[in-house]
Amino acid sequence: SGKWARALAILKEFEEKCGSPISKLKQVADAMTVEMHAGLASEGGSKLKMIISYVDNLPTGDEKGLFYALDLGGTNFRVLRVQLGGKESRVVKQEFEEVSIPPHLMTGSSDALFDYIAAALAKFVATESEGLHVSPGRQRELGFTFSFPVRQTSISSGALIKWTKGFSIDDTVGQDVVGELTKAMERVGLDMRVAALVNDTIGTLAGGRYNNPDVVAAVILGTGTNAAYVERAHAIPKWHGLLPKSGDMVINMEWGNFRSSHLPLTEYDQALDVESLNPGEQIFEKIISGMYLGEIVRRVLCKMAEEAAFFGDTVPPKLKIPFILRTPHMSAMHHDTSPDLKVVGTKLKDILEIFNTSLKMRKVIVELCDIVATRGARLSAAGIVGILKKLGRDTVKDGEKQKSVVALDGGLYEHYTKFRTCMENTLEELLGKEVSKNIVIEHSNDGSGIGAALLAASHSQYL
Ligand code: ADP
Ligand code: MG
Repeated sequence: SGKWARALAILKEFEEKCGSPISKLKQVADAMTVEMHAGLASEGGSKLKMIISYVDNLPTGDEKGLFYALDLGGTNFRVLRVQLGGKESRVVKQEFEEVSIPPHLMTGSSDALFDYIAAALAKFVATESEGLHVSPGRQRELGFTFSFPVRQTSISSGALIKWTKGFSIDDTVGQDVVGELTKAMERVGLDMRVAALVNDTIGTLAGGRYNNPDVVAAVILGTGTNAAYVERAHAIPKWHGLLPKSGDMVINMEWGNFRSSHLPLTEYDQALDVESLNPGEQIFEKIISGMYLGEIVRRVLCKMAEEAAFFGDTVPPKLKIPFILRTPHMSAMHHDTSPDLKVVGTKLKDILEIFNTSLKMRKVIVELCDIVATRGARLSAAGIVGILKKLGRDTVKDGEKQKSVVALDGGLYEHYTKFRTCMENTLEELLGKEVSKNIVIEHSNDGSGIGAALLAASHSQYL
């Protein structure tokens, strides 16, 4: 019928606008490299903040003692403690707990959020068991993984630039987040020192390097997306401090805020952005990361329902609710291998209260998921190539066999298999067979928490 044809036309048009041929991805990778240079040249020189992390040494394996980490990323935070045993014993023991953040705290007051976090941390500290104690007379030390853009002022302090990923708490912006946490810990009577403030990318880089000395960069694909890498300090014109002994400086790119005229953006992305908590910002993140992929799918479905009566004469009311279709739901539908696409049917019924969908309709929905995931995955690969280019590791020099390992982490990378596979295939497509042999993508499972604890150890007050 005409309506069906109209629905397919909407899908086709969306697919064309999302197109990411290799030629376009190369332009995106080049633009990423250019912006990296600009962001390193001067403060505010680029959409890419290229934040100096004050981490000029990555873990070596010598780290020793009991350390805590707190990982505040998106919807959950994790608290962990690790017993580090030095070169021989490595990670002797680790324990963690995951706590979800009540949504009202994500848009409430700074004190309320940090009190909640400090209280959970205190509760966790109280469960320290036999053999897992800090030495007598020593203060406990913590690595704080805080995955929002921070203007770092030292390894253990930094002011929040802005919230992202659905957080919006005005009175934290501009504040030192370590100060906020420390005050909250004092309020709940917890005696602990924040030894290192890092971002999840830096934590993942540190955790990755601890396991593999060839790790040069880290990428997070979770609720949001970001990347960090090891830069030569003398290649950072905006760095006016002393050159570190190592000659290195880890850079937190904040690549979620990348944008370029080469990015394949659609009317749906524009609308999502305008209606978001942070319009005009985090454009790369809004087409790649887990917070948004499902929402893009919902928006296209909504248009198909409104303009082509895709689900019948009325638009299913649930379909109009922003963010109701989460990326894990989308992923489950995308991976449905049953002949009648049963999972797709169930998800539509359970989440959107859309009943009686035909197989033909379900196929269209799987195709839509594929278009959205493919674009995100291919653009992520282009971003990684941008970093490798900046490092001069996107080519093979005289048969050199130097490996470059990129540590990856985040729920999207970990659980969305088709996304991950597409990203890895695209990377190989972009780099070519020869170069690809030297580039390794390594899943750094929960590296960000361990990494923060490792950095707390190397910045301990007792060294
Ligand atoms: P954060 O980024 O908040 O620190 P994670 O790295 O654990 O946390 O990532 C969580 C995100 O990963 C979720 O918001 C979701 O978008 C995505 N995710 C989790 N599970 C799946 C899944 N099964 N399929 C696709 N995406 C998933
Ligand atoms: Mg995280």
